[in-house]
Amino acid sequence: MHSKEVTHVKKSLATFRTLAATGALALAVVAAPAPAIAVGEGPNYGGNGQITTSKLATYDQMVSFLKDQDAKQPAMELEVIGKTVKGRDIHLVKYISDPAKPTILYLTQQHGNEQLTTEGALEFVKHLGTEKSADILKGVNILVVPMLNADGAMGDVDFSLEDYIAKGDRNMTRFNAKGVDLNRDHVAKIQPETQALHNNVMGKYRVDYMIDLHHQGTRAERDGKLVSGSILYPTTPNADPAVVERSKQLGAVVFDNVDSTGWGHLGKYQGGSAETISRNGISVEYGIATLLFEMRGMSDHYLDGYALGQRSNGYLIKQTVTTLTSTAAAIADGSIADADTSFWDTLAEQTSRPAGEADDE
Ligand SMILES: [Zn+2]
Repeated sequence: MHSKEVTHVKKSLATFRTLAATGALALAVVAAPAPAIAVGEGPNYGGNGQITTSKLATYDQMVSFLKDQDAKQPAMELEVIGKTVKGRDIHLVKYISDPAKPTILYLTQQHGNEQLTTEGALEFVKHLGTEKSADILKGVNILVVPMLNADGAMGDVDFSLEDYIAKGDRNMTRFNAKGVDLNRDHVAKIQPETQALHNNVMGKYRVDYMIDLHHQGTRAERDGKLVSGSILYPTTPNADPAVVERSKQLGAVVFDNVDSTGWGHLGKYQGGSAETISRNGISVEYGIATLLFEMRGMSDHYLDGYALGQRSNGYLIKQTVTTLTSTAAAIADGSIADADTSFWDTLAEQTSRPAGEADDE
């Protein structure tokens, strides 16, 4: 890392603290300041990174945080939209000032081992309760479904996780308690988590935009540099071209705000056209602009190349907050309609760096 980058990174850190550090979740442990390291340079398992889940919010901590914010924020409503296989309430956070205004839905943790997106979404919810967010809330309705797969996030599943890497309070898995990938269930809608989303959010509210937030492996790179994340619009041939264009505009807002930061480096995700995936299926079924955002590295996995150490957690959470805040603001003030989508024509698809090659650091 160059010294100039170090200075930039330290400056960024000074203005941003994780949920744990701000005490938003009322955790007893105050996190030490994260070392200066860019998102794309975070440690891999097998390097000097430690994979632990102990600093991540548990499901119960998330729920008490949401209830606390609900009590503090007049504009916020908290609704239970269903239950997981193991009986955990699934929550929807709502800010609906005027149903005639455009509405965006942010969805996190369909995959239980991809938690920093949820940590970022909770930070975003907290920000929405401050005076600074008043203009955003006037112009757009915001829906947030955090931690859709709470059973997978808590490792409370009907199969063994003994080969998973993370040390700490719990292991975390992609699948729901029945071992099903929820993001392949958007056509059949068999699982209770998927049903809750479709019956009590998609079918109940007039949603215009959705960002589905995930984490991918640690080895993806673009233009020779490890990415902090990657993005993609609907790629099924059945998607309405106008919806695809609006999805590309949503992506343009994210790219402009994240890739320009110095710590953000985004690639184009290589994704399939199956409509069992929410990015494709929801865009076709409801005519909604959708964007997939894959952050770098997972909170836990059984494969070395997927789990990421904690040192870049702060940046990945910040990347989520930046994504949510910038898109809500661009819809609220109408500027999303002017977003230039031509960057998609030149944005390189990410490729996978072979294991064993040196990282940037
Ligand atoms: Zn995922």
